[in-house]
Amino acid sequence: MGIREAVLSIRGRPTYDGAGVRLLRVFSQDEATRFDPFLLLDAFGSDDPADYLPGFPMHPHRGIETVTYLLEGSVRHSDSTGSGGVIGPGDLQWMSAGSGIVHEEMPIRSPRGVHGLQLWVNLPAREKMREPAYRGVSAGEVPVVPTGSGSVRVLAGRWGGARGPVIGVARDPVYLDVALEAGAELMIDAPAGRTAFFYVLEGAIGTASGPADAYPAGTCALLGDGDEARFSTGPEGARFVIAHATPLGEPIAWGGPIVMNTRAELDQAFRELDDGTFIRR
Ligand code: FE
Repeated sequence: MGIREAVLSIRGRPTYDGAGVRLLRVFSQDEATRFDPFLLLDAFGSDDPADYLPGFPMHPHRGIETVTYLLEGSVRHSDSTGSGGVIGPGDLQWMSAGSGIVHEEMPIRSPRGVHGLQLWVNLPAREKMREPAYRGVSAGEVPVVPTGSGSVRVLAGRWGGARGPVIGVARDPVYLDVALEAGAELMIDAPAGRTAFFYVLEGAIGTASGPADAYPAGTCALLGDGDEARFSTGPEGARFVIAHATPLGEPIAWGGPIVMNTRAELDQAFRELDDGTFIRR
């Protein structure tokens, strides 16, 4: 088939969320239809505790999965299913809110700051009210595939013969953390019909047809259809994440941390929050 080229390039918008955490909102409601089934990507990262210590105190989610990938520092979390713990660099949390979860995500003061990504993946209509599930993955469980001029950490799905620790979740997502040396080239297969995007963490990358520094750190690009993407690096090398998954093609009704298919389902969720019946399991 074809080589996927970037069809939309976006830079994150600085904003605050939670109790006052400074972050870069990379994509969100405005882009969600094109990024289907991915709803949102936040890049949080600061060496200044004032930017991250406020954290994300207890808040609800329903109808989505939130995927937190920590790059630096540590975050303490606990939720209404009884799951809890502290995640550190390279650890991943894959939280399926399903019918409802209430959780808190509180960064801990760290000499190297707290840096990471939070990705929201939409759940199909038939799974929005499923039982909540939580998967905590430690850095050591993530397979690392050497590529000759770098390495790929397989966070979810399968790549390069490796099977990531998160598998069998809705829409079969593949989520990779790619490190490339200077002057490297890498092909990543992303089967036709799936939505694919990348976000550059460090350095700069190019795609098949452009210069090797076309997408510097902080840039996200949606890839057009095809069955593989090709990346190259210039003199500084790069680190980036790439994710792809099957789109849902279902209506999106978005109410803050709750994403359903209809306005009525959202209204019901907020009524349940008010009357204390939101948490079912
Ligand atoms: Fe949350």
